[in-house]
Amino acid sequence: MKPLLITIDGPSGAGKSTVSRRLSERIGYTYVDTGALYRAVALAALTEGCAADDDTRLAEICRHLILKFQNTSKGPRLYANGHDITARIRTPEISMLASAVSARPVVRTYLLDVQRKMGKGGGVVFEGRDMGTVVFPEADIKFYLDADPETRALRRYKELAEKHAATSLAEVREAMKKRDEDDSSRALAPLKPAPDAIRIDSTDLEIEQVVEVLLRHIEKRTK
Ligand code: C5P
Repeated sequence: MKPLLITIDGPSGAGKSTVSRRLSERIGYTYVDTGALYRAVALAALTEGCAADDDTRLAEICRHLILKFQNTSKGPRLYANGHDITARIRTPEISMLASAVSARPVVRTYLLDVQRKMGKGGGVVFEGRDMGTVVFPEADIKFYLDADPETRALRRYKELAEKHAATSLAEVREAMKKRDEDDSSRALAPLKPAPDAIRIDSTDLEIEQVVEVLLRHIEKRTK
């Protein structure tokens, strides 16, 4: 059977990353976390002291940025120009900055190309915000994963609390609300389900249950 191209979109805290990783392991596919690519651009901008709306400098930064994922025993790692940036892109500051730079056309155009190259040949699970709508409108199977806002905030808080004890649930809730609003209302590639996406609400489901639901849909489509 031809290797499929599978997309999983949705807001932060819906469980996309863990679900996408587990799903890709179960079916032996490559997993691509596209949010990490936007975070990498944000980190580069921060390091260079470049404002999130300085398109000329952002274009220059993108031109010199070589991004590569590598699978290791510690899970997928992201390298920017040969440096492992996996841990450094997971801060609340980078989350907000990634959302800001992701609204800039120069950044989206650059990453569109990077992502499409990664998808050549299929056998990939792509996770993001616009995978099924813009980057791979011809994807074989599209999922849109959501959960109620309070559940998503709590999940994200627990995740962050393990690394940044200083963050409160109220702060996480506020930051997530702003990021959701910005991501959904931007002119370019806003967060929204593709018309042909299978929508799944993960509010009352454990990660493994969501993975099972996705697997059933994939089986149905490939029969
Ligand atoms: O998924 P993650 O929270 O790591 O994404 C960080 C930010 O990158 C999102 O808030 C969103 O603004 C942006 N993003 C995007 N398109 C994608 C993936 C992420 O605009 N496909």
